[in-house]
Amino acid sequence: MDHSLAIDTRFLATPATPGRKARDVPKRRPARWENAQVTEIIEEAPDAVTLRLRLEESTGFLPGQYYNVRLPVPGRPGPVQRAYSIASSPVPDPSIIDLGVREVSDGLISPRLVRDLSPGDRIEVRGPVGRFTWTADDGGPVLLIGAGSGVVPLMSMVRYGAVADLAIPMCLVCSSSNFDYAFYHRDLADLAALYSWLEVVHTFTRDPDDPRARHHRRIDRAMVAEAVAGQFPRRTYICGPPAMVEDVQGWLTELGVDPDQVRVEKYD
Ligand SMILES: Cc1cc2nc3c(=O)[nH]c(=O)nc-3n(C[C@H](O)[C@H](O)[C@H](O)COP(=O)(O)OP(=O)(O)OC[C@H]3O[C@@H](n4cnc5c(N)ncnc54)[C@H](O)[C@@H]3O)c2cc1C
Repeated sequence: MDHSLAIDTRFLATPATPGRKARDVPKRRPARWENAQVTEIIEEAPDAVTLRLRLEESTGFLPGQYYNVRLPVPGRPGPVQRAYSIASSPVPDPSIIDLGVREVSDGLISPRLVRDLSPGDRIEVRGPVGRFTWTADDGGPVLLIGAGSGVVPLMSMVRYGAVADLAIPMCLVCSSSNFDYAFYHRDLADLAALYSWLEVVHTFTRDPDDPRARHHRRIDRAMVAEAVAGQFPRRTYICGPPAMVEDVQGWLTELGVDPDQVRVEKYD
């Protein structure tokens, strides 16, 4: 790999290599709140955006991690904090992070992130956080299963695989209500056309006819069995609503996937 594309793991909470002893990893600087600048806002769906942020100080991150974001909320004694996963690759420049945010219509924070920000604004963020991570050291084949905004951290893994030219086989199964609401559908189509190691399987839960999806239902056991049969995964990452994550975990175990090789992130 080009040296400039290696991930800088010096200050990360999670050792990049499972099994590496804590004493081998330099101590992480305590994360602090910082004012990140919004440099770009990209519409991903009618209710979702990418917030591209420039960090004041980058400590690097691993694909799959997230940042906490906090905003003052009228009537609340202090700022209110929420977690948002990073969708971008940590290489070549981890000081620029893309957060994927879907609006929860009656939510406190997500509508303001989706609707109220403009390029040049600053927001408070703290991170990176999380052990839901994949790097080249973890190897593959990799099975990625996401529903709704659960695709966000999986996209960081796919983009990292592409930028670092890892050619590690990946199959991404993503569930969305329909094509327009599918996070990153354009980027995913471009990447899948470019890289033979990447397979993208869409399932649309509310559009029974769209031929751009292989399936037209919620993720179920048969869909997971098909993905596992296509290429038996060495690592599996599941992200989305807790019920979906738990169901898929159970089906994978029934299908013979080692539970120790399955990582989950629940958006509750
Ligand atoms: C590790 C992690 C990573 C995440 N990454 C992402 C990501 O990449 N993208 C993304 O879009 N989201 C992500 N999320 C979800 C995100 O953190 C927020 O939970 C989400 O955006 C909703 O926040 P909100 O403030 O807008 O809504 P909230 O104000 O938290 O409300 C959410 C829902 O709960 C209901 N609710 C709130 N309070 C009550 C109550 N007292 N009683 C009953 N119902 C109530 C609201 O009506 C609303 O429907 C992630 C979550 C986790 C844990």
